[in-house]
Amino acid sequence: MKKDTFDVFCPQCNLVVEVKAIADATGEFHSEALNPEDQVDAMYDAEHYSICICHRCDQAFLIKESLRGVPAEFETVTDSVVLYPAESKISTEHFPSSIKSAYVQALRSYKMSLFDPCVLMCRKCLEGLCKILDVTGSNLNQRLEKLKTENHIDERLLKWGHQIRLVGNEAAHDIDTPVSKKDAQDILEFTEAILIYVFSLTKRYEALLERRQTLKS
Ligand SMILES: [Zn+2]
Repeated sequence: MKKDTFDVFCPQCNLVVEVKAIADATGEFHSEALNPEDQVDAMYDAEHYSICICHRCDQAFLIKESLRGVPAEFETVTDSVVLYPAESKISTEHFPSSIKSAYVQALRSYKMSLFDPCVLMCRKCLEGLCKILDVTGSNLNQRLEKLKTENHIDERLLKWGHQIRLVGNEAAHDIDTPVSKKDAQDILEFTEAILIYVFSLTKRYEALLERRQTLKS
């Protein structure tokens, strides 16, 4: 069921705040019903948009919810994205939810100048990526190597992955050497590149092939 309050990260307050919808509208709607009269019993996918205001600082938010349900039976929210203000300059649309959560925490840590937590969450993104792709090994070093041997990433991304692992390890164990802003920024951007390559571009490539196949048939 679509919501009228949301917990969002407010960039002005630097806090997660509860915001209330002051206006909302339904966007795209697609029913699996073959005839309009069957829609009530058919699965549908819909988009729902809400405009919300932070009660602390009046920051405005535009939130998109993806809904799936059957009109006469149920409705669930399958995804919820803050479209404005954009938290990330990259699209996380195709990231699995556990990866998206770790990535957003890395991003927020960076924005709050918490560079050690930032690189720790970047390392966690890689741990999550291996788990989702079912890549096993006794440690992250081995799992990253296996990502390459199983053709999920290439040699260059493997090197970037090892740097994310090493800087993440230092942040976890070396109390005397804090991670610098520049290093955290690089680690965050290399993490983004790997996630885009493995999740977003792979999905887009599959969709491109499917579109072209449909055209030919
Ligand atoms: Zn606020």
